[in-house]
Amino acid sequence: MKVYECCDIESVTKKIYCRECGQEITNEREVPDKGNVYSYTVIHVPPAEYAHLAPYTVALIELHNSNVKLTVRIAGEVEIGDEVELDEFVDGAYVYKKTS
Ligand SMILES: [Zn+2]
Repeated sequence: MKVYECCDIESVTKKIYCRECGQEITNEREVPDKGNVYSYTVIHVPPAEYAHLAPYTVALIELHNSNVKLTVRIAGEVEIGDEVELDEFVDGAYVYKKTS
């Protein structure tokens, strides 16, 4: 996936202007879709639209070669440090799975 960088802030969300310096963000690069679990929460009682998915895990992952931390949904259980990879992008949410 692509990350956009300015003022040492990286983001996977494309922003036209940097929040820090107000300049147009022109720095973008491709990083792997893989990362490691940084922290996670198991959701047992989700919002109604995700009820059919419960229980599932919402994890903060650190993408490789980047300081971007991304909030993703993961089916099943993970541990901190587990390597995960992008499975699909649905309804504006990143869905990851463990690499095996
Ligand atoms: Zn900037």
